[in-house]
Amino acid sequence: MIETIASADLAVNEKLCIQKRRIQNGNSTRRLSFVTGTHGDELEGQYLAYMLGKYIDDNIDMLDGIVDIYPALNPMGIDSITRGIPMFDLDMNRIFPGTRHGTMMEVICSSIVDDLSGSDVCIDVHSSNIFLKELPQIRMSVPTSEILLPYAEHLNVDFIWVHESATVLESTLAHTLNTRGTKTLVVEMGVGMRITREYCEQLFDGLVNLMVYMGIWKGEAPQVRKPVTSVNREVGFVNSGAAGIFVPSANFGDEVKKGDYIGDVLDPLTSAVVERVEAVCDGMIFTLREYPVVYGGSLIARILEPVKEGKAE
Ligand SMILES: [Zn+2]
Repeated sequence: MIETIASADLAVNEKLCIQKRRIQNGNSTRRLSFVTGTHGDELEGQYLAYMLGKYIDDNIDMLDGIVDIYPALNPMGIDSITRGIPMFDLDMNRIFPGTRHGTMMEVICSSIVDDLSGSDVCIDVHSSNIFLKELPQIRMSVPTSEILLPYAEHLNVDFIWVHESATVLESTLAHTLNTRGTKTLVVEMGVGMRITREYCEQLFDGLVNLMVYMGIWKGEAPQVRKPVTSVNREVGFVNSGAAGIFVPSANFGDEVKKGDYIGDVLDPLTSAVVERVEAVCDGMIFTLREYPVVYGGSLIARILEPVKEGKAE
């Protein structure tokens, strides 16, 4: 069943509609919500929404519960290849929880929150931006981690990044829902404006595994990996020291040592290497720059350090 969960009039007799598809079977009312498309330039979730819906359709007898799929929270962004909401130049993930008596987008955000609230688990899929590629990972804050970690560990991601609460943005969909008691996991994977098929397939297995864990899927649980977590580890940030064209030599997911060569920043006019980029610490590269143009301070990589000695993982 396809429902419009929020709508607003547009200027020339058109309508902005946010839609969801509800798939329901059996007696259980336990509900998994899959949302994506808040940032219109992040498209990995589109393929995943398709895969999830099709798999459940093809095996509907296995479902005992509700799966709600919201592929496009920001449809105008998707249609116009725009990260934010095109005509207002607003990041939609900075407007939540919205309000019922506010501007058009505040009202829409408020309706989205109302519709998602009460889900047993909500998965909010993002795909970085066009500049950086991310290994499939889940991000959460320290205060929410006790509740969210057991669910996150079922999702077949490589990495769980538990942030200090000081860095939490309060106007995101996930923060709003978690504050209101709806367990919401933020997935980051791949790169903007592209579909990375292997990552979508990886997270798809995770979603099926999560449905089994939630008791809403009667099929067999797929084999999933055990993610590493950032608890008791540091994250090293590699930033460019110069402007130019970044050409990587390291690969995504590589284990590196401090000082290892990651790539060069080049000047195409003078044919000079303006910076030799090196790892700032030991660890695994889980973020790597995809877009070659860099300026002083541009993020080139993030490295997850090994567990500190004397601390249990
Ligand atoms: Zn995003």
